Order: sequence, then structure tokens, then C-alpha cells
Amino acid sequence: MKHLIAGNWKMNGTPASAEALASGLVARAKGAAKADIALCPPAPLLALVGAKISGSVIALGAQDCHADEKGAHTGDTSALLLSEIGCRFVIVGHSERRTDHGETDADVKAKAVAAMKAGLIPIICVGETDQQRERGETSSVIERQVKGSLPDDATSANIVIAYEPVWAIGTGKTATTADIATVHAYIRKIFEDGHGAAAALKILYGGSVKGSNAAAILATAGVTGALVGGASLDLEDFWRIVEACP
Ligand code: PEP
Repeated sequence: MKHLIAGNWKMNGTPASAEALASGLVARAKGAAKADIALCPPAPLLALVGAKISGSVIALGAQDCHADEKGAHTGDTSALLLSEIGCRFVIVGHSERRTDHGETDADVKAKAVAAMKAGLIPIICVGETDQQRERGETSSVIERQVKGSLPDDATSANIVIAYEPVWAIGTGKTATTADIATVHAYIRKIFEDGHGAAAALKILYGGSVKGSNAAAILATAGVTGALVGGASLDLEDFWRIVEACP
């Protein structure tokens, strides 16, 4: 099973920079890459990036979706629409959405359900804050988020989980590989208890992954890919991460 490297561009990019980055990655990936790759640009750039990566091994992903199929939700995007414009993945429950938009585990679960119904693979994010970690609450927070955010019918084939310690996102700090291995094993165990076989479940690590630290993180037990923020905006650095996959 190949690792999955997903680039979360967040609220960055212009049509020109998106075109350059997507074209550059397509040229690097050629017919095959060491990892499965997904690009998650801001919603207004999805169609442009989708056109650039069409026919390549790179998949398209969105950064969020609404739980409803359609309706009066100004500014939101439905999972169905994302699916119809060519997305394969959608990130749900990113800590920035949990914080900036007050999204709860129940909200995240509803979005993941909508994503699956639309044929998308939700990349469901979980992770503890600095304070929670310092209080020794990492396991209980992860357990609550995984149990509360995953659709009841989640399987290892229809969802991806991203473990992203909030204190490591965009800070340059990364969890130790020992801590990452412990949390990933814990997530796999919770998943197995509630949803069955977890051996094939993709669990990405996210939090300041870059070319220079990717090899160690991606070779860590239980890590089957990365959700990459800042470094996904740099063609060379993102490609180093893809190449660092075991
Ligand atoms: C993220 O946004 O999911 C992320 C992990 O960001 P960064 O790689 O910049 O820490």
C-alpha cells in the first residue's frame, strides 16, 4: 500500500501560482510516483487545479464541505458538487476549522457522512492542543475526536484519518517519532474496536512536515502518509516529501 501525501494549500495561492505548482508536480510525477498524491487548493482554484492534474496520478481534494447536499448556506460548498467537479478527497475537521468556525466532532462527522455519500474520501483530522498535551490529555482527546468524528459506517477503505497535533501545525515543531507511533497505534486500536479491520486504514501525520524531516516521520510505525500545509506550497519541498516515502 502506497503512502498518501496530501497538500493542504489552505487560503494560499492565485490562479498563476496554482497553475505553476500543479503543472510542476504533474511533470515530476509523470506516470508514477512513490506515493499517492492529493492536492487540496482553496475552493475557487479547484477547477483550475483539477484541469491541470487531469490524466495524471495526482488526485484533487477540497479543504472542507457542508453537511447538506444543497440549500441556503451562503459561502459553503456541498460534497456532491465537489465530487462532480472531480474531487476524490475532502479534508474535514481541520483544527483551523474547528477553531475558526467552532466545528464540533458532531459537525465533522456530519460532513464526513456527506462526503462519503457523495463518493468522496474524507480526510478526518484529529489532534490535541498544546494545553491538552501538557495536561496529559492527548489520549482522551484523540479518543473523543475519533469516536465523535467518524461516520458509523467508516471502513479502512472509505476514510482517511490525519493525526495533527495542533501545536505542531505551522509552528516548525513536530512530535517525536515515538509519540507519533504511539498516537497512530492508539487511533488504529480505537478504529478497530469501533469499525473493524484497521490494518489497511490510512493514518496521515500532519504538523510541520517538510523535506528535511519527512523520511523519519514517514518511516515511523503506523504512519501511512502526511497531510502537509506550508511545505505543500513549495514544489521542491513537497516533492522531497513524496520522494521520502518508503
Ligand atoms: C496542515 O495544515 O494540515 C498542516 C499540517 O500544516 P503545516 O504542514 O504547515 O504544519
